[in-house]
Amino acid sequence: MLKRLEMAGFKSFARKTVLDFSSAATAIVGPNGSGKSNAAEAFRFALGEQSMKSMRGKRSEDLIFAGSHMSSRANRAAVAIVFDNARRIFPRLDFDEVTIERAVFRDGSSEYSINGTKTRLRDIQELLASANIGQTGHHIISQGEADRILLAHPRERRAMLEDALGLKIFEFKKQEAERKLEKTEENVKQVEALRREIAPHIRFLGKQVERLERADELRKDLQNAYQMYFSIEETYLVVEKDTTLREQSKVSERLSIAEAELAVFEERTTHDTEGMKRTEAVRHAEKEVDRVTSERGQLAREIGRVEGALDAAKKRSMQVARDPYVKVSRDDLSALRDEISSQSELPEHAENAALRAALVSVRHAITVFFERFAAPTDDYLAEEENAVFTYENELKVLTEKDAKLDAALEETRGALRRAREVVFAYEETGREERHRVLALAESKAQEEASRARLEARLHQLAQEKESFDRERAEAMTLVGTPAFSYTAVSELPQEERRVQEDRLRGIDRLKIRVEEAGGAGEDVRTEYKDAVDREAFLSHELEDLAKSAAGLRSLIQDLDEELSKSFAEGLLKVNTSFGEFFSLMFGGGSAKLVLEEIVTIAEEEDEYEEDSVAMPKGKPGIEISVALPKKKVQSLMQLSGGERALTSIALIFAMSQVNPPPFLILDETDAALDEANSRRYGDMIENLAKKSQLIVITHNRETMSRAGILYGVTMGADGISKLLSVKFEEAAAVAK
Ligand code: ATP
Repeated sequence: MLKRLEMAGFKSFARKTVLDFSSAATAIVGPNGSGKSNAAEAFRFALGEQSMKSMRGKRSEDLIFAGSHMSSRANRAAVAIVFDNARRIFPRLDFDEVTIERAVFRDGSSEYSINGTKTRLRDIQELLASANIGQTGHHIISQGEADRILLAHPRERRAMLEDALGLKIFEFKKQEAERKLEKTEENVKQVEALRREIAPHIRFLGKQVERLERADELRKDLQNAYQMYFSIEETYLVVEKDTTLREQSKVSERLSIAEAELAVFEERTTHDTEGMKRTEAVRHAEKEVDRVTSERGQLAREIGRVEGALDAAKKRSMQVARDPYVKVSRDDLSALRDEISSQSELPEHAENAALRAALVSVRHAITVFFERFAAPTDDYLAEEENAVFTYENELKVLTEKDAKLDAALEETRGALRRAREVVFAYEETGREERHRVLALAESKAQEEASRARLEARLHQLAQEKESFDRERAEAMTLVGTPAFSYTAVSELPQEERRVQEDRLRGIDRLKIRVEEAGGAGEDVRTEYKDAVDREAFLSHELEDLAKSAAGLRSLIQDLDEELSKSFAEGLLKVNTSFGEFFSLMFGGGSAKLVLEEIVTIAEEEDEYEEDSVAMPKGKPGIEISVALPKKKVQSLMQLSGGERALTSIALIFAMSQVNPPPFLILDETDAALDEANSRRYGDMIENLAKKSQLIVITHNRETMSRAGILYGVTMGADGISKLLSVKFEEAAAVAK
């Protein structure tokens, strides 16, 4: 419901002018040029009209009171429309009164506000659309524009009809959804681009992490191998040492018993010179045995030492053989660089021969350099292999010597036995006693041999302990403490020593692979995890975007369906009304709106593009088909001025009937009507005023007679429009 129109500085309404609309139909009357149409345009202006043409101006400045020789110009034009919102025709605004205001300034800027709060034009448009006050202006029929709807392009006509049917709100929603969809699709593209960007990075990091994991596995294998090996070796070393020591103490015990007993026998024979000689021979032989035995012990230690050295040399040669790298010092590298640059320094136009010579020298320099670093490796390998060879030879010699000493020992023992036999033969000693001494001597010799063997064994065990400790130190650097989280076995496995040695060789092989596999690289893992997380985030984002795009598409489809359904229904209703109004006006005949056949001509489009009216594209436009009573006229063009006015009035009224706008402004729509038609027009006005508030600008008495309120507009010498309330009887006079 319209309540008031307030103008200030707008066109000829220089001073603040208020029009109250407390009646269903209000007529504005006045002489030509007094400013009546300006009042109608004030509505357009406040409702957000963007086309200057439809407000009869070129620039927005034309809308501001220009001044006259008696009064100065205004700086701003402002128009406010006050609506009664008690019945919430603007459902979104919880106020009983809604004021929409627009002001324009001399610099061309516009300002909009709703209830005094500044807003955007779009907010005004949406607000109006929600109350079925559209922007195509079908509810404001300007002077001489009554047949605008007849002249309009079919597509423009469709837009006007959609607007009149209140479908603009769907169109707004659709545009909004389309804008969002476009934005979403843009986002999808961006996210996809990001994903494409990080994909190779993830692949690269993934490979690195894979390598790290392989290295971890190898380290784990090595750790297990170490644990297995250590748990056995530790027990082995302890058990072996204990056993050997126990044996050793038993041997010493037995040896001292035998020696003590033998000493008794010898004591007995010392007082006998003949016997002394024989005993001397025995003692000599005994010394010989001792000497050879100790020599053999020494030899055993020597053998142990050489065995150890041989072992180490073998290991070293293995290491040398597997190392693919060569250390080259920076000095050597820069020397090579300097040499090559000096060799290749040539005058600018050097001859072929000189070039060739330079190339030869460069090649030579490189070859010499490589030989320096390639050859030493082989030499070193050869050196280590040589060492192995030497130790092996040495060991062979020592073993041979040991065999000889063994033979020598056998021999000296034989000599001792014989010397003792001589002693016994000459002595009148009992057979038994002699046997006893022989046996004693024999066992003493055996124990001595055992002692030497046990000593060598202890020495060997000490060496094995040393290499065990070395192995542990290495395990600490390669695997760390986890290598030592094992419990030594309580009982040694039933296996040959060779098996444990195989384990150690397995460990050596694993060490090489671990070294080749490389270091820990925690940061690569974190980076990889971050990248994978990011990828997951993006793909989730993409899913969300796809979902919302699908939602928007289906929303757009729904709106389209809603739109075309409501449009079809609305068209049907408008047509019924149109036909009725038409035959009422013409006393017969028929008229209807028909959908244009779609033969879209592309070139035709541009012509209407700049028009402020948003035209629905890709939908059939609307044609008007009329059949006058008793005449064979089909084309609108062939109608007379009055007939055109009647047809368009019928159509405008039909549209207003189906979906009544809150108000309708008719600026001299009745200008071309004769008396009979004026009466019919007046009837329809009365009828229409039941549903929409009417504001009619007219010179027609019949029309004036149907209005509840009459305003007279006059313009004095100052060029300013003035407003006065008049009675019907005065109206005709004011209008002149
Ligand atoms: P008719 O009955 O002939 O249609 P009308 O009452 O509708 O006349 P309008 O066309 O509304 O008259 O008023 C036109 C008058 O308004 C002209 O006298 C014009 O000079 C004046 N006018 C238009 N724009 C301005 C302006 N910016 N400043 C001052 N006066 C203006």
